Amino acid sequence: MQFDQEIFDLIQQEYQRQQMGLELIASENIASEQVMRAMGNIMTNKYAEGYPGKRYYGGCEIVDMSEQLAIDRAKKIFSVDFANVQPHSGAQANAALMLAILKPGDKILGLDLSMGGHLTHGSSVNFSGKLYEPHFYAVKKEDGLVDYDMMEQKAHEQRPKLIICGASAYSRDWDYARVRSIADAVGAYVLCDMSHPAGLIAKGHLNAPFEHCHFVTSTTHKTLRGPRGGIILMKQDFENTMGILDTKGNLKMMSDLINLAVFPGTQGGPLEHVIAAKAVAFFEIMQDDFKVYTTQILANAKAMEKAFDARGYHMVSGGTDNHLLLIDLRNKNVSGKKAENMLVKADITLNKNMVPYDDKSPFITSGIRVGVPALTTRGLKEHHMDQIVHWIDTIIADIDNESKALAVKSEINEFMKGFELYQNWKV
Ligand SMILES: *Cc1c(COP(=O)(O)O)cnc(C)c1O
Repeated sequence: MQFDQEIFDLIQQEYQRQQMGLELIASENIASEQVMRAMGNIMTNKYAEGYPGKRYYGGCEIVDMSEQLAIDRAKKIFSVDFANVQPHSGAQANAALMLAILKPGDKILGLDLSMGGHLTHGSSVNFSGKLYEPHFYAVKKEDGLVDYDMMEQKAHEQRPKLIICGASAYSRDWDYARVRSIADAVGAYVLCDMSHPAGLIAKGHLNAPFEHCHFVTSTTHKTLRGPRGGIILMKQDFENTMGILDTKGNLKMMSDLINLAVFPGTQGGPLEHVIAAKAVAFFEIMQDDFKVYTTQILANAKAMEKAFDARGYHMVSGGTDNHLLLIDLRNKNVSGKKAENMLVKADITLNKNMVPYDDKSPFITSGIRVGVPALTTRGLKEHHMDQIVHWIDTIIADIDNESKALAVKSEINEFMKGFELYQNWKV
């Protein structure tokens, strides 16, 4: 067979891009060498529809053990009774969870996408907004914090079956006890989608959702720093009240409904190589080193908050409790789109983002989202954050000056040579 030079050249180019640039996309991270070794392995050859011990194919004894390890480690990390590690992504985890507990047309209540929520929390362009009837709560205009009073009011008006908390662009912690009490009053279930802060929750830096939320979903590739994928967790299994019967006419448990909704509900064969890589990531998260990492994430985010504040940037909610900042550029007279486009010329990658009550479209936006998980993995510390914000500010303060951006790019490329992307990994 001929070697596919074309694709491997592109992978090499992507390696260089990642090595040379400053990665500030809040949802990205850099998986370890052993996570990638596990991901690129012969388990991709294996069909294993079903679950450990209950497969529809032979020869699953070994992948059973590795999937079981992933499940057991996930349960241990988050002190939960149930884990499904098969969802191919965060969106797939949410699709399966909703399929498990909702019927088409049921009402759901989530944080508005333009306020920091996620597409899968009811957006009209997503399955969640097409199959179910979406309603939204917001963040408050005055302080950028989740408006729990509005959540409560909407919950009473609409009586949704499911209330979703968690977000993609929210820099503060959540009051899960409050969400649960709102849900209990109207008989709704609570889903926490902790895709973004999961790694910080794993190490106890933020409120844990598990006691209060019936279901928790997450990606595995953001602050958890694993392979691209999703998981579904439950603190405590409980009897379903959806009236769905199994073949023997018994009421199923929620764990059964969720497992059936992942496979065969929304997916076919699991990606056993990716599940092995999830197990490796969970192994890493269980080590003390990972707490050093998550502690550094918080320190870097705070240092970045200080550096932006010192240069007159307006941050939604005034700052951060987690790994990201949402910056409103309106006082700088620069759109999110313009900022993203010029910053990328300096090898600074981040994304334009709507800010709450934005007057610009999602394609233009008034803000940018910055996150520190990837550059913290690279080894950058608090004292580097001021330099980074200085580079960003240099470009934003002179947004049409491409030669300035290119000058910053050379400085960044030189600077990043001091922080190896990988020690031993070969493309
Ligand atoms: C990233 C994210 C997802 C989706 O994850 P994918 O793996 O991209 O499908 C879902 N929910 C939230 C809150 C997210 O931030």
